Amino acid sequence: METESPTLPPTPTTTTDKLLTVVQRAPRPAVDESTLKHKHLLDGPFWQRIPSYREVDEATFADHRWQSKHSITNVPKLLAALQGLVTPEFVTDAEEGFRRAPMSVRVSPYLLSLIDWNDPYRDPLRRQFIPLASRLLPDHPKLGLDSLGEQADAPVPGLTHRYADKALFLPLDTCPVYCRFCTRSYAVGVDTDEVEKVQLRVNEDRWRLAFDYIRSRTELEDIVISGGDAYNLRAAQLEEIGNTLLDIPHVRRMRVATKGPAVMPQKILTDDPWLDALTRIVERGRKLHKEIVLHTHFNHPNEITAITQAAMGRLFERGIFVRNQSVLQRGVNDDAETMLLLVKRLGHVNVHPYYVYMHDLVQGVEDLRTTLQVAIDLEKHVRGSTAGFNTPTFVCDAPGGGGKRDVHSHEYYDRANGISVFTAPSVKPGRHFMYFDPIDALPERGRAKWAKPGNHQKMIDEALDRARQLKG
Ligand SMILES: *Cc1c(COP(=O)(O)O)cnc(C)c1O
Ligand code: SF4
Repeated sequence: METESPTLPPTPTTTTDKLLTVVQRAPRPAVDESTLKHKHLLDGPFWQRIPSYREVDEATFADHRWQSKHSITNVPKLLAALQGLVTPEFVTDAEEGFRRAPMSVRVSPYLLSLIDWNDPYRDPLRRQFIPLASRLLPDHPKLGLDSLGEQADAPVPGLTHRYADKALFLPLDTCPVYCRFCTRSYAVGVDTDEVEKVQLRVNEDRWRLAFDYIRSRTELEDIVISGGDAYNLRAAQLEEIGNTLLDIPHVRRMRVATKGPAVMPQKILTDDPWLDALTRIVERGRKLHKEIVLHTHFNHPNEITAITQAAMGRLFERGIFVRNQSVLQRGVNDDAETMLLLVKRLGHVNVHPYYVYMHDLVQGVEDLRTTLQVAIDLEKHVRGSTAGFNTPTFVCDAPGGGGKRDVHSHEYYDRANGISVFTAPSVKPGRHFMYFDPIDALPERGRAKWAKPGNHQKMIDEALDRARQLKG
């Protein structure tokens, strides 16, 4: 395509010529390639910055088994890996943080290497995976462990049927890493000092009940295979689930959900049996005109490296489509620059940004939540920055089982009290759902009201009344 012309065009005669002249006389200024940050991916042996990985060569680091085996699950292991890279103050803080966390801790060497250990308090990846007691805030009085009510909408254990035509299947409860902010902290991971989990182990009998239910409900067209995390299914299990669901005539679409690409892209590159199993079900699906895609979960542009690009390239070559769901988190991706970079970088490695979720109302991670307003503002920045199909929808998964609602679609939003009200006519008609902003982020008058428990119900009733009035 011709974009620049050094000589001035002849005097325009037709309307088209006139238009062209305007375009050519006001060219967009050339862009400095170095500002296209989304294309600049971390490459080379970056993990050798970590003392205990100094001798680890590329082939070893690329091996998914090595990544799993050397994952960090407790403070002694963290210290052993970092060997003096952090201060004693940080160590004490992490020890207490691990003790109080509702989630198990598990961090891959890959993630550990991407954390800036010169500034661990502020690092966006540290914030997501390594709890520090000094950063914790009191929970909001209105939050609970299963804030989405997944168990209430579960006809059989580990299968949530909330929306008319789609269901969420949780075949297992383990993940390659554990995220502090996990929505399913009620089930995912092993019991912690703070939380005893609902068990959703790999269990053929439980799976059979879920498959029978799906088979019996002809309205179900779309099955999300989540967890836990499909990365932790054995190749044969993944294939069995895929084939069983493909055999059900009314099931048309499936998504295999895994955080894997964001936290251990090595598996895509070196676990051929797993990737081949996924490829086979995707290809069989394609022949049956059924769609199987991968859904993943990148939250920060630093999680996308040259290794990620190689892994996503391998999926792309095999025709495996990847969508991304991020969680909006304070100090991680709650500013426009970071969110824009994340969205552009995802597109660059052939991953389609699908959703950005408001942080769910889960325990022990109040420091990570943002107000609804933050999401509303970010959405305005992101829309228009790249292709529409690479532009995520910002949603709030309404507590109480209302499902995902566009953040702009609130019926009412009291910014001082931090209460937003949503409706979901196709999911739970006639009901209202509320999201609560983190109290420490509210203006002083809102904070003062929440400080008195006697006010809480009144604030909620007021918000609901206003929502109904605005509607009527
Ligand atoms: C998110 C979710 C789905 C899938 O919803 P989409 O908006 O289609 O991505 C299905 N079931 C449950 C219970 C969910 O939480
Ligand atoms: S990978 Fe997903 S399911 Fe597992 S801990 Fe993280 S958010 Fe939860």
